[in-house]
Amino acid sequence: MVKNVVFVAAEVFPFAKVGGLADVAGALPKALYELGVDIVVFMPYYGDVKKKADDFGISDAGIDGLKVKLNDKIEEFQLFQAKLPDSDVPIYFIANERLFGREGVYLDPVTNKPFPDTAERLVFFQKAVFEAVVALGINPQILHVNDNHTALMPAFLKLANGLPPNWSRTKSLLTIHNLAYQGVFDKDVLDIIGLGWELFYPTGPFEFYGKVNFLKVGIIFADAVNTVSPTYKEEIQTPEFGEGLDGVLREHADKLFGILNGVDYSVWDPRVDKFIPHHYWLDDLTGKTKMKKLLLKEYDLPYDAERPLIGMISRMTEQKGYDLLADAIDELMELDLQLVILGSGDPKYEKFFIEKSKAYPEKLGVKTGFHAELAHYIEAGSDMFLMPSRFEPCGLNQMYSMRYGTPPIAHKVGGIADTVVDADENPELGTGFLFTRYDADALLKAVQRALMAFRDRERWLKIMQRGMKMDFSWESSARNYLKLYNEIYEGNL
Ligand code: ADP
Repeated sequence: MVKNVVFVAAEVFPFAKVGGLADVAGALPKALYELGVDIVVFMPYYGDVKKKADDFGISDAGIDGLKVKLNDKIEEFQLFQAKLPDSDVPIYFIANERLFGREGVYLDPVTNKPFPDTAERLVFFQKAVFEAVVALGINPQILHVNDNHTALMPAFLKLANGLPPNWSRTKSLLTIHNLAYQGVFDKDVLDIIGLGWELFYPTGPFEFYGKVNFLKVGIIFADAVNTVSPTYKEEIQTPEFGEGLDGVLREHADKLFGILNGVDYSVWDPRVDKFIPHHYWLDDLTGKTKMKKLLLKEYDLPYDAERPLIGMISRMTEQKGYDLLADAIDELMELDLQLVILGSGDPKYEKFFIEKSKAYPEKLGVKTGFHAELAHYIEAGSDMFLMPSRFEPCGLNQMYSMRYGTPPIAHKVGGIADTVVDADENPELGTGFLFTRYDADALLKAVQRALMAFRDRERWLKIMQRGMKMDFSWESSARNYLKLYNEIYEGNL
């Protein structure tokens, strides 16, 4: 049985969050701990985290002399520690002023572009985690890494000399939260990695069209790889969704798994949500009506009980379907509905939708930036939730919105296909409205079907209630992870 696990991620909620990875990294370790796993989490000590160190109860771990070799230089670092909130799960922060002292996780907040020294930051972080784990005297059975930011670690585990002998049985699992981000860097990064240039040869594990692709390295060297939903696991083995790595993934199909993410219902539940002033549940939805009024006020839009309000929260990238929405927006605005959007990202979309909101001042509200509290308002105050993602590794918002009685209207891909049931196709079990073709017309038709259902109050309530009762808690996901850890550790893979 696996007992000792080291879990490494570049973002962990609530310390630093860019997207779903943080939600997973903040919740899965707690659920595994509840199942009896001694799990320890590692992340970088970003400037943003340091600023809030007191609020988070972060303190110096009191270990001196920590250092790693980068190129030919020695890079020293410090270790800070805290607990994941409301738990006994230890989290350690790798601190180095030069590389991580500034603000921003992946992007420079000033330029909105990736930091020029991203590769160095990531390689340093991964090497430092090994040093820290050894210094702390932890002997992990499983090293669980996440996404390209930590995907070199399985290679270090297999290839690097100098790890303590009791690591000889340590196995690794790489979780891919989003295949679109692969960490592709100029080949010079091999000097920083320091595992030797002989690993760089055409079609070899460290070579990817003349560059180095961290995620590819991880896929090849990890003992097992999983994605965050069963459907996405199948999709990424096809050229359409494989982002150039489908061939590598097909080659390693025998160690590829799909485990659906869970939801942290201590954060995302309309009965206990700390961000919303009005709570509600199945038997009394007045709190939801109050939230709708508050939300519309936030967006400076008029309230109308009969007019459905659609909410959308997501990074403004093409992945999330903003191209479809841009195509559909004018026709959408002709329908009897209101739409509120929260998202930041591509300036092209930010500008486009802000302009559009001026053209439809009573119907369309757009806010950019990252606003955790507002995201909760939208889940609670909207009547429906829009998620037209081109692809969706798991997607959390469709699961959140179901719990808040806000049926999703979504593109049937990845984790959405695994969690939402179309209410017209399956009237007995339906929890939302899905479209399969990725185009504006299909999106509009799904919205129209949702509007029809909304007008039938009794039917709508049933769809809402079914969604609210769905249980995507972390416990069952954690059990699946533990099962996978055991299989990896026993060498069955
Ligand atoms: P992804 O990880 O691809 O961004 P997910 O649906 O898995 O998508 O998770 C996104 C998470 O980030 C959700 O918790 C969502 O509410 C949150 N989120 C995304 N954009 C914003 C924003 N601008 N403000 C607040 N929360 C956001």
